[in-house]
Amino acid sequence: MEADRADIRRTEYYRRAFDAYLRYGTRIDLSSKAANRTGRYVWRTREDDKVRPSHAANNGRVFSWSDPPPTGHPGEAPGCRCRAVAHYGATEFANHTIVGSLESGRPRWENLDFVRHFYFDGGRTVTLREIGHLREVVEHYAYRLGAFRRLSNEIAEFARESGEGAILDDFGQPYEFGQVEHAHGRSVVSGFYRGRRTDRGTMMATACTIEFVFSDVFTDPANLRERLFGGSELNRVSPGIARLTDLGGRAYKITGSWTVRFEANIYRESRRSAYK
Ligand SMILES: [Zn+2]
Repeated sequence: MEADRADIRRTEYYRRAFDAYLRYGTRIDLSSKAANRTGRYVWRTREDDKVRPSHAANNGRVFSWSDPPPTGHPGEAPGCRCRAVAHYGATEFANHTIVGSLESGRPRWENLDFVRHFYFDGGRTVTLREIGHLREVVEHYAYRLGAFRRLSNEIAEFARESGEGAILDDFGQPYEFGQVEHAHGRSVVSGFYRGRRTDRGTMMATACTIEFVFSDVFTDPANLRERLFGGSELNRVSPGIARLTDLGGRAYKITGSWTVRFEANIYRESRRSAYK
C-alpha cells in the first residue's frame, strides 16, 4: 500500500486536500479509497495464474469509482487480491479489449467428438468457433498463459525502438492448450499488431489492432485414447470405443482467429516503466 500513498501525492484529490489543510487545517486522508472516491483508478491484478479471467480482463484498465465494472471494484469479490491504483496523467496502463463475440452457439466438443471427426469426416478443417472452444482458448491463452501481459511488454519495447509513428510487427509460438481439452495439446498462436505510437511528455500513448490466428492439426487419436481411458483402463474400453479408436482416420486442421484492440499509456523510458 506504500506505493499507493506515493501515488496519491500526485493526484487532484491530494492537491485539493493539501489546499484545504493550508486554509482550514483539515487533516489529509491518505487512504487510497478516500483519494480515489471522486476519481478514476487503474485496475491492477497480481498477474499470476490464480487471477480469475474476468479480473485479468480488467487488468490495466481505467475505471471510475462512481461507475463500477460488472465485476465490481478491485477487492470486492470474495478472495480478490486485485488493487486500485490512483489514476492521473502519468499512470501507466495497458489494456486489451477483445473485439466482437467469441460465442459459437454450437454444442461444445469433448475429446470423443475430436476422435469421431478424425474417423468419419474425411479430414475437413474445423474452426474453434464451430466446435464451441473459441472463448475458452482465447481466455486460456490471454490470461492463464499470460499472453496479454507478455504482449503488452513486447509492444511497449517495440514502440520504444520504433519511435513515434507507425508500429507493425508479428509474433508466434506454440503453447500448451491441453487444459482446455486434451485433444488440443500443443498448438501455435501467431499474429501481428499494427498501430501508432504518439508521445505526450514522458509518456507514449500506443494504440494497436492485434490479429491472432490459432492453428493445430489433430493427428494423434491413439495417444488420445490412452489419455482418455488411462493405462490400466485401456484393455477394458467397450468394443465400440475400441473399434472407433483403432480404425484409420484422416488428420484435420483446427483453426481460429480473433481480434484485440490494444490501448496503452506507458513511460517512454524503459527503466521507469512496468512494461518492458
Ligand atoms: Zn481480483
